[in-house]
Amino acid sequence: MGNADPPSPSPRRSSPPDPSPATELELIRLIRTAVAAGDATGVVMGIGDDTAVLEPTPRARLLATTDLLIEGVHFRRAWATPFDIGWKAMAVNLSDIAAKGGRPRWALVGLALPAPANPADVASLYDGMRQAATPHGVIVVGGDTSVSPAGWFVNLTLLGEHDGSPPLRSGAKPGDLIAVTGELGRSAAGLAALEAGRRAESPASEACALAHLRPTARVAEGRWLGAAAGVHAMMDLSDGLSADLGHVCRESGVGARVAVDRVPVDGGAREIARALGAEPLDWAIGGGEDYELLLTCAAAEAEALADGLRRATGATLTVIGEIEGLKAGVVFVDAAGHRVAMPAGYEHFRA
Ligand SMILES: [Mg+2]
Repeated sequence: MGNADPPSPSPRRSSPPDPSPATELELIRLIRTAVAAGDATGVVMGIGDDTAVLEPTPRARLLATTDLLIEGVHFRRAWATPFDIGWKAMAVNLSDIAAKGGRPRWALVGLALPAPANPADVASLYDGMRQAATPHGVIVVGGDTSVSPAGWFVNLTLLGEHDGSPPLRSGAKPGDLIAVTGELGRSAAGLAALEAGRRAESPASEACALAHLRPTARVAEGRWLGAAAGVHAMMDLSDGLSADLGHVCRESGVGARVAVDRVPVDGGAREIARALGAEPLDWAIGGGEDYELLLTCAAAEAEALADGLRRATGATLTVIGEIEGLKAGVVFVDAAGHRVAMPAGYEHFRA
């Protein structure tokens, strides 16, 4: 992969034309300017050579994650601005590093836009990335651009570091308690408000729409929890509690029982649900894209983890259920202990 190379030559005559040379150069200049500011620690060579040259912390383990955002699938330009798209591309990758308790460090960006690309859009997209990245000391060190036949494609790869053993999805044990940071349902509520054209209706709908368009990764919380005693498994909530807890169960060979009345539902999501005649618990459990952290921990440590996390970061940690030995997937129960059906959450390539 080129390091912020110009758009690749077309492989076939029938391929869409590349942007004019002036546009190519302008794009590269824009990208260099947009990413120049930042914490260059560990960067021997950033943008401008065949590869970036990076100097990892001695003895640290390297974490690597990538996320592909496609117009019409992951975002809609009807309401996501270029800044929002850049911000989200960075935030979802930061969240994956947070989920392993890591320090995010260096990002690479693949970008394809229909020709002719609007330089202001590109500048705004990189500005969104930079503003999401800078508080965490992350810098863009390379990437590639191309013409897209239709729609925007943004692929961001993020490298991070961990000094010990990252908490994996496979670490859950029978008897563990299941807990989540923060409150759930905000992103799905924001998407519902956007789809209904009611973003500007109330402070709650604006806050939830913003949570959907510019999510905040729990980086400090992930680092604290990733180093804390008693955390056995951890991941971030991207596909929804139902689907993501299912991933933990499958990887750990266990089952899970969740008390739906203990699931922390965002107040703004409740307010939007009332206005739209929707069920906020469905958003909290099946909605996805909240980018909170989901963990399982030794039962004896749960209280100390919640207290410690609040003191260290201000974030809440709420116990919502228990890991069971029986491999029965994720079971939801009401306050009386009766099973209730809940949405399955987001599955990739669902038929
Ligand atoms: Mg993840």
